[in-house]
Amino acid sequence: MDNAQLQYIRSQFPILDRTVYNRQLVYLDNTATSQTPRRVVESIDASYFHTKANVHRGVFSISQEATDLMEQTRLRVRDYINAASEQEIIFTRGTTEAINLVASSWGGAFLKDGDEIILTVMEHHANIVPWQLLQNRIGFKIKVVPINERGELDLDVYRSLFTEQTRLVSFTHVSNVLGTVNPVKEMARIAHSHGAVVVVDGAQAVPHMSVDVRDLGADFYAFSSHKMYGPTGVGILYGRKELLEAMPPYQGGGEMIAHVSFEGTTFADLPFKFEAGTPDFIDIAAFPRALDFIGETGMDAIAAHEQDLLDYATARMISEVPGVRIFGTAPHKSAVISFLLGEAHHYDTGMLLDKLGIAVRTGHHCAQPLMQALGVEGTVRASFAVYNTREEVDKFIDALIKVNSMLNRI
Ligand code: PLP
Repeated sequence: MDNAQLQYIRSQFPILDRTVYNRQLVYLDNTATSQTPRRVVESIDASYFHTKANVHRGVFSISQEATDLMEQTRLRVRDYINAASEQEIIFTRGTTEAINLVASSWGGAFLKDGDEIILTVMEHHANIVPWQLLQNRIGFKIKVVPINERGELDLDVYRSLFTEQTRLVSFTHVSNVLGTVNPVKEMARIAHSHGAVVVVDGAQAVPHMSVDVRDLGADFYAFSSHKMYGPTGVGILYGRKELLEAMPPYQGGGEMIAHVSFEGTTFADLPFKFEAGTPDFIDIAAFPRALDFIGETGMDAIAAHEQDLLDYATARMISEVPGVRIFGTAPHKSAVISFLLGEAHHYDTGMLLDKLGIAVRTGHHCAQPLMQALGVEGTVRASFAVYNTREEVDKFIDALIKVNSMLNRI
């Protein structure tokens, strides 16, 4: 990506101009949430100023306009991930709610005591706890795929975990800590050969690569708008229509019914059966502006730029930061670097970096079982997006060298 293009991209994100402790912000917490381009915020403004009316209910013009805007997003998302039908696109509050929906509705209806499901040790808590909550009610067994020393899933163990009782596998497409990109297609193929349903947590994949849910073989695929330059409060659950049709509703309320009486209630068709209550229609309507930004920039260009930043930052860290330990060294890795500076505590590193204007995340990253497997309490995590630059990587590494010498007296 040339400098002019990068500067044009950055100019669309006003937050990148702000300062922290009198230094220009270097934002490297894109895995937690990415920043939002002006056009998305302008779309939200425009909805509040011109088309705010509740969706799906009104006969009046602006209610219909608001409904159209929301439903256009569903069509855009359908095409974006190559779903077969817009009925397969369910709006949720985020990846977390999407996975809870699958666990509660599909799991609640189709899992029973004696069944088995497979997760992996690199899962975000959002793809662990919903299954445990259900397990407490039902009593099925959870098996866990381990990782190797590079932070890749052990596929031999994965294969060996399947039995006659395996009903479902649920795993992340990309690790939010290690950056590892998992071989979803192959894992889905193996699961399907055992008759298991495949749930994929795509929260860290969709912002960084093109995703075709049908090509991957995902039965369910979950992701969040706020991690891909979009508004907060919007998540997507893709589900194969046959599966969604067989599932009971997740929550009850307005919008999700066909007819209600005290003698009995019938439910709306897909996708509305799973969308009880007033959705976040203004943010949903703004989401396509984030997809426009990604489309205009080009997913290949985004991926290539992020790979360049990852390679550059990793090389400088290894050669110039004595004692640094990097967690996650898979060859197929997205632009996330989890690390520790010698024995220094991750919070100390993060707080000192903040004083130098660098925003990185510290802690367990909602992946405590993975931390346990890595033998650490937490890490520092720097993660990159398309608007980051090599100059920012330089500022980050220079700051890291300083912080390392303070904390480890090197
Ligand atoms: N799954 C993964 C891999 C994540 O990285 C995250 C957020 O960091 C989530 C799920 C949860 O996403 P959300 O908080 O948007 O629901």
